[in-house]
Amino acid sequence: MKTTGDLQLLKRINRSVLLRLIRSQPDLSRARLATLSGLTKSTVSALVRELLDEHWLTEAEAPVAAQGMGRPSTPLNIDTQKRVLVGIEIAVDCLRLVCVSLGGVILTQTEVALEDRRPANACKQAGKLMRLLVKQLDAKQLVLSGVGVCLPGAVDDATGIVRLAPNLGWRDVPFLDMVSAEFAKLDIPAVNIHLQNDGDTAAVGEYEFGGGTADDPLIFVNCDVGVGAGIVLNDRLFTGFLGAAGEIGHAILQVNGPLCSCGRRGCAEAFIGARALRQKQGVEKAGEYLGVMLQNLDAMFNPRVIVVGGRSAVDHPELVENARKAQQTYAKTAGMQAPTVRAARYGLQAAAVGAAALVLHQFLRPLLKESNHVSWN
Ligand SMILES: [Zn+2]
Repeated sequence: MKTTGDLQLLKRINRSVLLRLIRSQPDLSRARLATLSGLTKSTVSALVRELLDEHWLTEAEAPVAAQGMGRPSTPLNIDTQKRVLVGIEIAVDCLRLVCVSLGGVILTQTEVALEDRRPANACKQAGKLMRLLVKQLDAKQLVLSGVGVCLPGAVDDATGIVRLAPNLGWRDVPFLDMVSAEFAKLDIPAVNIHLQNDGDTAAVGEYEFGGGTADDPLIFVNCDVGVGAGIVLNDRLFTGFLGAAGEIGHAILQVNGPLCSCGRRGCAEAFIGARALRQKQGVEKAGEYLGVMLQNLDAMFNPRVIVVGGRSAVDHPELVENARKAQQTYAKTAGMQAPTVRAARYGLQAAAVGAAALVLHQFLRPLLKESNHVSWN
């Protein structure tokens, strides 16, 4: 039995419990943390000390008098100044890199043209951007928590292999291993590097920096040249068997409908993808079909929140509004409550910010990563 491994995991779980409590309830005292977490006061004290030293937490400089009896306490909060998360989006034509605080504030953002779509070259270019950023972080004495990378493709969680990214022309690329090797040159440990589909990270970004569990289930619908969705269900991403869950662009909306890029007819993408939007009456018609799409998602997942993002949604806010109205009518007709439908809070940076949020998401759920790598044989 690996006793040390288990104890370390236990400690990571306990740390994540404290961080999640403090994120949801600012200004908690150590005593209150002990009560809420069920951990002993001495364990809380020791873990809080570590989290303060590592800049996950800050504490008020002067103790605050307790209400009623009891000793004054020092309120604890998430450190939004010292520790940062980095997200990299490999899009079809560009690379986006964002540096985000633990509170979800974008500190820096960079966008450059993607020089070469081949995996090794994309990886090298991301490495170059990262090297510049690491220098800036060092100069400002900021602490890097980790790097999330996202791209438009199906990512197998267990192996970090990109199964299929049609718009990049990739199939079965071990991209997590490749970026981990590239970032190892910058002393970023592989354990702090994550890879995920862009729609999935966008959903995680909205979830972590938005309403959190109060928004669960949350679906992010990404409307661009392609159309996809990221789904957060029961406090974790739902990615499906091979990472391809949420490929709603190729859900059929009309039998024998217009031809889609995939070769089928009547796919959602043929109605609400960016190409369809460019046609006459495009946005109005697309809004109606997007409403159908949202209704179908509601029927399948009964989400609390649906966020609509991607370039089409950013360029045409009326698309989101029309879709929201159409979906509301569907819900009303059946006497059902419609989910909240809103635009993405980070606009075109949604996927990149989400990739950064994924670092935090994984850190706060140590068992997620473990369960992905556990073999039960
Ligand atoms: Zn299709």
